[in-house]
Amino acid sequence: MASFPTVQDLAAAEWDTVAEHWAGLGYYARARNLHKGAKQLVEVIDKTGEFPQTLAGWEAISGVGPSTAGAIMAMGLHHYGVICDGNVKRVLTRWAAIDGDITKSATTKDLWALAERLTPTENSGLFAQAMMDMGATLCTRSKPACLLCPLKEDCLAHAQGRETDYPVKAKKQPKPSKFSDALLIESADGDILWLQRPDNGIWGGLWSLPLQFVEKVDGKANNKATVKKTLASDDKPSNMPNDVRSNEKVYEAEFTTAEQIINEWLIKK
Ligand code: SF4
Repeated sequence: MASFPTVQDLAAAEWDTVAEHWAGLGYYARARNLHKGAKQLVEVIDKTGEFPQTLAGWEAISGVGPSTAGAIMAMGLHHYGVICDGNVKRVLTRWAAIDGDITKSATTKDLWALAERLTPTENSGLFAQAMMDMGATLCTRSKPACLLCPLKEDCLAHAQGRETDYPVKAKKQPKPSKFSDALLIESADGDILWLQRPDNGIWGGLWSLPLQFVEKVDGKANNKATVKKTLASDDKPSNMPNDVRSNEKVYEAEFTTAEQIINEWLIKK
C-alpha cells in the first residue's frame, strides 16, 4: 500500500517493480492479474470518471471472477451482489445436503442458483459478509462448530450427522514434478545472467537463473532415483546437451527461447 497507494500508481508501475514487491508470496499469476487489472481499471476511470458500477463491468477486469465481482458489488458499492466462494459453497452444500461433486460445473451452477435465491435484495453485502464469516469461523472444513451455528435447526448435514461428508469433491490428480538445473553463468566481470520467465508457468514474468529442464515425472513418483533412471535412458532428443535427457515435447514446452539459445550454446561448447 505504501508503494502503490492508488490504482493509478499500480497501473503506472513497471511489471518488474510489482514483481519485486510480490516476490516470495507465491501465486504469481495473481500479481500479474492485479497489475493488468489495475491498468484496465484506470482505462475505465479515465473514460467514465469512476470505477465500474455493474457486475459485468467488474467481471471484465483481469483476475476478478464472479464471486469477487459479486462481493465488490455487495460490499464495496452497496448494490445487490451475490457471492459463492469456497466458504459459502461449504456452508450451502452442508445446509442443503447437496451431494454433487463441487468440482463439476453442474453442481457449481446449482450452488450459484441457491446462493442467488437466498441472497436478500436489501443489504446483500451484510448477507455476503455473514456467509463468508460463517464458513471461515463456524462451518469450518474439518471441525464445524454446529452447536454455535445459527443454521443448526434446519441444516440437513447436521441432522444427518454427516457434516464433514460435504462438500463432495473428486480426488485431485497428483501433480507432476518437474526437475531443472539452475545455470549460474557468470561473465569475466562477475555479472550473472538472469532471464525473465515467460508469463505462463512457474514464476511467470519473474527473473530467474536460466533453468535447464531435466525431467517431468507424472504423479507422485518424484524422487531423485526416478530422475537418475530417466537420465540414463536412451530417448534423448538430438538438440539437448549430453547430460540432459527428456521427452522432446516437454522440453519444447518448458524452455523459453532464451533458454534454448543458451542450450544451443552449451551444446556447441
Ligand atoms: S449446522 Fe454445522 S454443518 Fe450445518 S451450517 Fe452450521 S456449522 Fe455448518
